[in-house]
Amino acid sequence: MLRVTEIFHSIQGESTHAGRPCAFVRLTGCPMRCTWCDSEYTFTGGEQMTFEEVLGRVRAYGCPLVEVTGGEPLAQRGAFELIRRLCDENYEVLIETGGYVSTEEVDERAKIILDVKCPASGEAGRNHWPNLERLRADRDEIKFVVTDRADWDYALAVVERYDLTRRALALLVSPVWGTTDLPALAGWVTESGLPNARMQIQIHKLVWGADARGV
Ligand code: SF4
Repeated sequence: MLRVTEIFHSIQGESTHAGRPCAFVRLTGCPMRCTWCDSEYTFTGGEQMTFEEVLGRVRAYGCPLVEVTGGEPLAQRGAFELIRRLCDENYEVLIETGGYVSTEEVDERAKIILDVKCPASGEAGRNHWPNLERLRADRDEIKFVVTDRADWDYALAVVERYDLTRRALALLVSPVWGTTDLPALAGWVTESGLPNARMQIQIHKLVWGADARGV
């Protein structure tokens, strides 16, 4: 069984897959409490569903791209089984994870989008660093949500320490919605010269607004 907050079909709002049609399975619960979290509604509630019920909902969309997200999806043991079953059905599977839980048992066919929490999140002390050593340069992406210059300097140090220009397909750099100085962030990314860096804005928030759910 899985505890599920929502399942929906929309466009992918982030990552190198942004703009693609995507089915989303948003699992309930997260052990972190990032100061700028935009998914607090996932912390509690949700609906108990069997694997077959979840897979049935996903199949009905007829969409080859599926993202398993949260909350922190990997905090539920059942997530690893769900990911394996989605891969067995030949979906292209994205895992959006907050970086606290080990990715070691994630099916190797899935593509991982791994957050590294920066200091302003309040959760930088809980990054599970071995996850960075498991990244695969042909498919996995790293995401830094950057509030300010101190966060950006932290991100640069992590990129250097873990050789992420070589280890990750992309270094995604996201602002905190409504807080981060966007021109400043664009300037830092530009000046960095990091070959795989990408500043990104969450497309779904531009289209439907920051508080919309299930889109
Ligand atoms: S890891 Fe994600 S869902 Fe959990 S508190 Fe942080 S931003 Fe929110």
